[in-house]
Amino acid sequence: MREYDVVIIGGGPAGLAAAISVKEEGIDNILILERENQLGGILNQCIHNGFGLHVFKEELTGPEYAQRFIDKVKDMNIPYKLNTMVLDLNKDKIITAVNEEEGIIEIKAKSIILSMGCRERPRGAINIPGSRCAGIYTAGSAQKFVNVEGYMPGKEVVILGSGDIGLIMARRMTLEGAKVKAVVELLPYSSGLKRNIVQCLDDFEIPLKLSHTVTDIKGKERVEGVTIAEVGKDRKVIKGTEEYIPCDTLLLSVGLLPENELSRKAEVKLSNITGGPVVDESLETNVNGIFACGNVLHVHDLVDNVTAESLNAGKNAAKYVRGESFKGNKIEVLAVDGIRYTVPQFINPENVEKSIDVRFRVGDVFKDSFISVYFDDVREMHIKKRILTPGEMEKVKLTRGLLDKYPNCKRITIKVEGK
Ligand SMILES: Cc1cc2nc3c(=O)[nH]c(=O)nc-3n(C[C@H](O)[C@H](O)[C@H](O)COP(=O)(O)OP(=O)(O)OC[C@H]3O[C@@H](n4cnc5c(N)ncnc54)[C@H](O)[C@@H]3O)c2cc1C
Repeated sequence: MREYDVVIIGGGPAGLAAAISVKEEGIDNILILERENQLGGILNQCIHNGFGLHVFKEELTGPEYAQRFIDKVKDMNIPYKLNTMVLDLNKDKIITAVNEEEGIIEIKAKSIILSMGCRERPRGAINIPGSRCAGIYTAGSAQKFVNVEGYMPGKEVVILGSGDIGLIMARRMTLEGAKVKAVVELLPYSSGLKRNIVQCLDDFEIPLKLSHTVTDIKGKERVEGVTIAEVGKDRKVIKGTEEYIPCDTLLLSVGLLPENELSRKAEVKLSNITGGPVVDESLETNVNGIFACGNVLHVHDLVDNVTAESLNAGKNAAKYVRGESFKGNKIEVLAVDGIRYTVPQFINPENVEKSIDVRFRVGDVFKDSFISVYFDDVREMHIKKRILTPGEMEKVKLTRGLLDKYPNCKRITIKVEGK
């Protein structure tokens, strides 16, 4: 069995940044395992711009952003295996992977960084009634067809779901000559970034039908049309509001799920809300030495945030290998009153050098409200927010000084308050 100090599973932006950071910490015996035939992850198919505004202060396309990290991995001689699928992982940190040249490979690692990204929810996950005809794709698959393979999935399109991938694909299909008839969203607000609503829908006069859903798909061989209808506050269809839209393609952008089959096998504890591992300040899971970052941990809106988080995961994995991480009393971080989740869910102040970013998302739209942070019952932060939406990830920075001010703190609570 081959042995490594750190193995990184997944060579997307999270895995690349984590690997670079481990290497920068002076740990050389590392390996990236990637199932695709190239590094870069989902960014390879995201040919639109908008990446890197925070990290590079420039507007890059997805492949350009990824290439900067791929170049660095190559310059630093970080070893990686492509076309290598990790099949199994256990809590003793033994990895089983397979590729064409070597067959089944067994690897033992002192530390593992999970960076497998996420996958799209398919039609089966939302049970849309109607026939099982051709012409129904997830938005990400359609993106790969158009941007990588050079195929057009259809000419007259309805998109269900207004998350960022749905919005980006509305514009992409329009630029490639299709007519996008509507983007239909179950919720009363879009879960995508505001900039994407403006640049991908408003600029192309594509209607966004909020509080609507697809109630039927018509077509024998191929989609011929879909029926949409308005939903009430209870998200149930309001009878009499049905509208038939002829189209040949339905794209589904109805959510992303962190890719955690391997994490489960390693007995990593997962959060019911994020679908990703429960982690502490070091991004370490409940299994000692297994860390997680990027979309496998929680679905990110911006790749820049993925990079920042993953650099941190790499640094902490290196500390673990050097035996420098501290296991002490952990403070629980609670998400209540409008906050859906936080990452991390636990903080051990001893491991926080200068400060720690606690990232979170709200569960609804809030206007003119406050994000409050309580150390037990004491309110320490009260930050005015003009608008908070579930589509935009938020963060609060907790300094080591602030953590040290409450040495006996049991709980840090983050909530939305009206005043
Ligand atoms: C359509 C779309 C539009 C986007 N637009 C923007 C934008 O405008 N701006 C922005 O900042 N961000 C955008 N993003 C978000 C950004 O692309 C992601 O946040 C980022 O790619 C996540 O990085 P990751 O490394 O966690 O996951 P991924 O990029 O998904 O990488 C995960 C990697 O792990 C590999 N892997 C998984 N399982 C295994 C296994 N078992 N064995 C081996 N390898 C495995 C996969 O093949 C993949 O390469 C967009 C995303 C999408 C999908």
